[in-house]
Amino acid sequence: MSIDFSNDTLETSPSIVTTSLTREDENEFSLRPKTLREYIGQEKAKGNLSVFIEAARMRQEPLDHVLLYGPPGLGKTTLSGIIANEMGVNIRITSGPAIEKPGDLAALLTNLNENYILFVDEIHRLNRSVEEILYPAMEDYAIDIIIGKGPSANSIRLDLPRFTLIGATTRAGSLSAPLRDRFGVNLRLELYTTEELTQIVTRSAGILNVPIEEDGAVEIARRSRGTPRIANRMLRRVRDFAQVIAGGVITRGVADQALTALEVDYLGLDNVDRRMLRAIIENYNGGPVGLETLAATINEEAITLEDVYEPYLLQNGFLTRTPRGRCVTRKAYEHLGIPFFGQESFT
Ligand code: ADP
Repeated sequence: MSIDFSNDTLETSPSIVTTSLTREDENEFSLRPKTLREYIGQEKAKGNLSVFIEAARMRQEPLDHVLLYGPPGLGKTTLSGIIANEMGVNIRITSGPAIEKPGDLAALLTNLNENYILFVDEIHRLNRSVEEILYPAMEDYAIDIIIGKGPSANSIRLDLPRFTLIGATTRAGSLSAPLRDRFGVNLRLELYTTEELTQIVTRSAGILNVPIEEDGAVEIARRSRGTPRIANRMLRRVRDFAQVIAGGVITRGVADQALTALEVDYLGLDNVDRRMLRAIIENYNGGPVGLETLAATINEEAITLEDVYEPYLLQNGFLTRTPRGRCVTRKAYEHLGIPFFGQESFT
C-alpha cells in the first residue's frame, strides 16, 4: 500500500487542543495503526467495516463508497489507510479545499487504477462544480468532460477504473443530499472513552519508546477530550517534561504537572473552552447566545468552536444547544467556580 499525502494541508498551531494536523503530527505517521485489529475502539464502525471488507474481497470487487464523519482527530484518515491495507489496494489522499477546479478532480480520478481508494478529507468543502463531477464518477465510474467552448462545445464520456471513494467530514449535515446519497456505507466515529485512550497512549508510548506508568497513561487519556490526536500530542509534551524533571518516566504526577503547565485542566478543558464558557456566563447570563456572536466575543472562529470545542463540552454536559443558541449548564458554573443562582435552561 502506498499513501500519498501530497495534497494534505497542514497547519502550524500553538494550541495543544487543536485537532487539525500540525507540522509536528506530520512526523508521527508511525503512530497510525495499520490494521483493524490495532485500531482501538470504534467497535460499531469496525464491526460493520470488517463485514463489508470481507464481502467485497470475496466478490473481488471494490468496496462501496464510504462516508466517515465525526470531530477532527478521531481517526478518519487512519481508518481509510486501514481499509486500503485490509483490501490490499493503494490509497490517494487529498482534501476538499485542495481540489479547486473540476479539472483537478478529473486528473485525480483518471490517474487511479482499478480498485484504488481515493480519500477526500473535508469533503463538505468541495465546491459545487467539482462535486457535480463526482456524481457520475461514484455512480457509473465515468466522467463527462466538456471539450471546446460555446455552441461548438462537445461533451465526451470517459470511463474510469472502478474505485472506492472515502469521504471524511466533521459535519455530515453540511453535505449536499445528492452527494450523501451516493455513499453506500456511512460510519459515524464517536469520541473515545478514557479506557480506550489509555490503550492508545500506552500503545503510542511503546512505539515512541517512552516508559510510562499506567496512572500516567490514564491521566493523559482523561485530559485529552476523547480525541486520539490530542492524546498523542499530549504524550509528546509530557515526555519532554518527564525527561527534564523525572528521569524520563511518565508518572501521574509528571503528566499532571505538564498538562497543568500547558493550561489543560483536570477534565481536559483548555483556555479556549474556559473562555467560551465564561463568556456565556459573564456576557450572556448563561445563554442562550448564538454561535457567531459567541465566537466574535472571544475572538475565535465559529467553525473552530463548533467542530473542535463544542463536541466535548456538549458530551460532558457543560453546554447545551438550544434552538435559540448555546447555554451553559450548572456544571460549567461549578467547574469555573462561579456561583450559580438561576435555573438551568433546557429549551
Ligand atoms: P482524523 O482523520 O479523524 O482527523 P487521524 O486519522 O489523522 O484523524 O488520527 C489522528 C491520530 O490519532 C493518528 O495519527 C493516529 O495515530 C491516532 N489514532 C486515531 N484513531 C486511533 C485509534 N483508533 N487507535 C489508535 N490510534 C488512533
